[in-house]
Amino acid sequence: AWTLSETHPQLTHLCIYPVCKIEVPERLTVSHEALIKTGLADRCISVPVREATDADILLVHRSVLMSTKSPHLFTLQYGDVYFHPNIYHCAKLAAGAALQLVDSVMTGKVRNGMALVRPPGHHSMRSAASGFCVFNNVAIAAQYAKQQYGVKRVLIVDWDVHHGQGVQYCFEDDPSVLYFSWHRYEHQKFWPQLKESDYNSVGKEKGAGFNINVPWNKVGMKNSDYLSVFCHILLPVAYEFSPDLVLVCAGFDSAIGDPEGEMCASPDIFAHLTHLLMNLAGGKLCAVLEGGYNLTSLPQSVCQTVQTLLGDPAPRPANLDGPCESALESLHCVRSAHRQVSANVASNCWPQSEMTFIFTASSNNSLLLSPAELPTSDVTTKRIKLAEEEEDKLKKVEEEKNAEEEVWPEPPKRVAPAVRTALVLPNDVACPDGCKRFSSSEDPVIVNKLRLHFS
Ligand SMILES: [Zn+2]
Repeated sequence: AWTLSETHPQLTHLCIYPVCKIEVPERLTVSHEALIKTGLADRCISVPVREATDADILLVHRSVLMSTKSPHLFTLQYGDVYFHPNIYHCAKLAAGAALQLVDSVMTGKVRNGMALVRPPGHHSMRSAASGFCVFNNVAIAAQYAKQQYGVKRVLIVDWDVHHGQGVQYCFEDDPSVLYFSWHRYEHQKFWPQLKESDYNSVGKEKGAGFNINVPWNKVGMKNSDYLSVFCHILLPVAYEFSPDLVLVCAGFDSAIGDPEGEMCASPDIFAHLTHLLMNLAGGKLCAVLEGGYNLTSLPQSVCQTVQTLLGDPAPRPANLDGPCESALESLHCVRSAHRQVSANVASNCWPQSEMTFIFTASSNNSLLLSPAELPTSDVTTKRIKLAEEEEDKLKKVEEEKNAEEEVWPEPPKRVAPAVRTALVLPNDVACPDGCKRFSSSEDPVIVNKLRLHFS
């Protein structure tokens, strides 16, 4: 496994206009520093970045041109995309980094990996940037893998707390790409407030059944909710689909403490989510950073993911008390919607009986969602609204937020890889690289343990 850290000065200093309070350069620097501090960076192979070429970008987007001459105008036009003279170069680097990762995994240079990039990509559409995203890094990576390596089936798992509508639009009629996304939805009240983010958008035409949306209609979802959805929705379909490559829209705004997500899953849940995906596609997994705006839970979550990609055992999952009622409702709706699609993968592999037990309390479909009083389809974003408010009102909101800030424990210490081999060497033979020599005179306890273990 390896990590890709953006050392390019332009990316580190990617500035924003007007000033964006959350999609900040520190997101990358704190993540990278945490990987170094925990020793994980040393265990990874670092791969240099490249810019995505025009041909790469045109795999998904209608045009490679984005004017940066009038940044303010474009910010308003696209909504939550902050243009800076550097952004075009940075966005090409972010997409290129995802492609370098795909190259490294597909050629067998590494088994899996993670690309730490800014700007993120999953909201970006064919001809419009959206929600901090310029180019759709993961969608480009999927198309590139198909074209460059003849990959037949790609699974895209979007565990970011927002719906990656750009990815959905790109592949909704394509049965060779299975897109799974869970996202804060609150009955269409949460950005991007789209009807098509709901559970009944299952894909179109040939792609029917290959788009899975799990809407979270409440905030505060926990580890149990995430694991339930993985086990009862995603994994059975993913195994049936049998992808040749797994791409993860790895947004960590779905972790505790995030101002966008407001969820309660602990950072170590990402160890489990990663682990559960690593048995697919012969282990070929590329995670590409998307969101994640709490500068404490983001680096913790990144480390949990990378350590799992390196093959270390996952920590014991904490606080597993079963999914909450709202999560169960979503689960049930997703499965019902997919069962109605003919010839899709999902309806073949979700056992009917197993869920009936869990859903006895809420098995009537009509009881579940009441999308009354939905907001109009006026797509806007929280950030833009904030920008229009007066300065002191903003300050007040910030102060309130700080006061309510969540506190959670450090993720538990994880088991380091075990010693796998012991050898008895003659005294005059040098110790091979990466090995440690113990002698019975200096380390009697260790040597005795080894004797017992290997006798
Ligand atoms: Zn997000």
